[in-house]
Amino acid sequence: MACDLKDFPKKFLNYIGKNLYQNVDLRQYSNFQIGGRADFLFEASSIKQLVEAVRLAKKHSCPFYVIGGGYNIIFDDDGFRGLIIKNCAKGINHTSEKSVEVDSGVTLKEFLKFCLERELGGMEFLAGIPGTIGGAIYGNAGAFGKDIGSFLEKATILDDKGERITVSQSYFAFGYRYSILKRTQQAVLKASFSLVKEEDQEKIKEEIENNLEARRKKHPPLSLPCCGSYFKNPVLPSGKKVAAAVLLEQVGAKNLRVGGAAVYKGHANFIYNTGRATAKDVLQLASKLKERVKERFGVVLEEEVIFLPAISQ
Ligand SMILES: Cc1cc2nc3c(=O)[nH]c(=O)nc-3n(C[C@H](O)[C@H](O)[C@H](O)COP(=O)(O)OP(=O)(O)OC[C@H]3O[C@@H](n4cnc5c(N)ncnc54)[C@H](O)[C@@H]3O)c2cc1C
Repeated sequence: MACDLKDFPKKFLNYIGKNLYQNVDLRQYSNFQIGGRADFLFEASSIKQLVEAVRLAKKHSCPFYVIGGGYNIIFDDDGFRGLIIKNCAKGINHTSEKSVEVDSGVTLKEFLKFCLERELGGMEFLAGIPGTIGGAIYGNAGAFGKDIGSFLEKATILDDKGERITVSQSYFAFGYRYSILKRTQQAVLKASFSLVKEEDQEKIKEEIENNLEARRKKHPPLSLPCCGSYFKNPVLPSGKKVAAAVLLEQVGAKNLRVGGAAVYKGHANFIYNTGRATAKDVLQLASKLKERVKERFGVVLEEEVIFLPAISQ
């Protein structure tokens, strides 16, 4: 254990009234199905529990890490020394005609369903992206030229002292697959989005279906143990943005594998677990791909998938 945390489960039970899971196999918490064991894991079923868990971990200097659906994260083969907090908070409210306030543990699918039922449009581009609102804000998830950050009005986050604060959209400094949370590691608790009131529910439904169909054509099925696009789309020295998959395809990525990690034949920017991959296999394969692209095109690919080391830095 990273520090003397023998009493931590007892303190947790006293303070939060819930048991921690101990010595947890992390494979079931990442879509990659890779990872060793975490000392502790807690499934927070409300924002109150999430806040209390973070505060207690901070108080006892227990390293902690908040996850959502685990669709963009690769755990270390050595697991995690500390507490993993899985966010399962599911509250969602229609706060004004065009605004929805949503707990960060709500999945994008649940959020879209809620919006569709109330004829609120604008977020259809999220259809088919797996994961939670919190994870999506962290990485400014998006598709078809749109991203979630553009629709965010404000959010409640936990600041570095463990206090709840409300921040506006500009706080997040959203960019392509970027938010300030990548630097601060602050947890998002709730988020409010601005939507468009549509006359016709069918219009929203049709756009969702079209987006799902477009994704089915180019993306692997959700059942594939992977975490989506492995690399961000880079900008070439000429200033032109290009799909990472195009460069990867040209360096023969689809024929590469390391141990149990391989590149998906249908899309060169997806690394997946063929069954017994380790995190080391995935990282080595990614590094090989980066080397080839750098050598051929002079472009340094940047990871979109997040690797969580066993010992937090
Ligand atoms: C088949 C497939 C297709 C995909 N397609 C797309 C796509 O089209 N576009 C796209 O953008 N992504 C895509 N992804 C990646 C993934 O769906 C997104 O990154 C998603 O936002 C991850 O959400 P999550 O809840 O699973 O986050 P996790 O994987 O659980 O966590 C990712 C990061 O978010 C942080 N985080 C999670 N919750 C919070 C919170 N409450 N507060 C602060 N930080 C938090 C974690 O600490 C971690 O660093 C795809 C993935 C798969 C498997």
